[in-house]
Amino acid sequence: MNIILLGPPGAGKGTQAERLEKSHRMIQLSTGDMLRDEVKSGSELGLQAKAIMESGELMPDDIMVQIVAEQLCRDECEFGFTLDGFPRTETQARALDGIMREKGLKLHGVIEMKVDDDALTERITGRFSCAKCGAGYHDRYHRPKREGVCDECGSTEFKRRADDNEETVRQRLAAYHAVTEQILPYYREKSILRTVDGMAPINEVTRQIEDAIAELQ
Ligand code: ADP
Ligand code: AMP
Repeated sequence: MNIILLGPPGAGKGTQAERLEKSHRMIQLSTGDMLRDEVKSGSELGLQAKAIMESGELMPDDIMVQIVAEQLCRDECEFGFTLDGFPRTETQARALDGIMREKGLKLHGVIEMKVDDDALTERITGRFSCAKCGAGYHDRYHRPKREGVCDECGSTEFKRRADDNEETVRQRLAAYHAVTEQILPYYREKSILRTVDGMAPINEVTRQIEDAIAELQ
């Protein structure tokens, strides 16, 4: 099963992709994570990505399409994948169709996660993750079961993203509404678009995604 989770920054894409990896063994392919790995490696691409990510703008389409073409679909994608953060423009959406066709893969569905803008700023500024395994948490909505200890790997080190501040969030949200949201009709016309209520509690969103996946299969 190959799906796209589409929604604004902070909608809960990463949270739900992490769950799909556990429940369905669908590999999470996050273009944001790929770029953050590049930044960490200190590569030239990483330097460019760092500046763009900190401004909240989008990376150029040709670079993103090349990255995804390389990562899709690695051997471990036997049970499919969840794309998180890609596509973000119509050019990327069309390029993805070409990549999938070339690799003989099928896109089963696109799940839109709808969340009010007001809620997103709080979600993003309260977000943190395990520095060792990357498991995601929130100051208010998803704290580790044992204070200061990662539920998944027991690490006691956590980190916050450099771009998770109010100013950058505003720009990222503007980019979502101006550009990314515009690709919804593209998938609606293909009859593979489903919408879930991303404002609901995390478990309820998971339930709605499970229902959508069952229907799209
Ligand atoms: P995205 O990958 O779409 O940017 P995340 O999955 O990282 O978003 O979620 C952003 C923050 O909001 C995280 O700290 C996460 O724990 C929290 N979160 C995710 N889903 C919900 C939800 N349904 N209700 C409340 N908080 C949520
Ligand atoms: P994310 O982790 O999905 O919130 O992405 C963080 C940042 O990486 C975004 O604000 C963009 O600057 C950049 N980025 C990630 N994916 C894409 C993409 N598909 N197209 C353009 N820029 C992207």
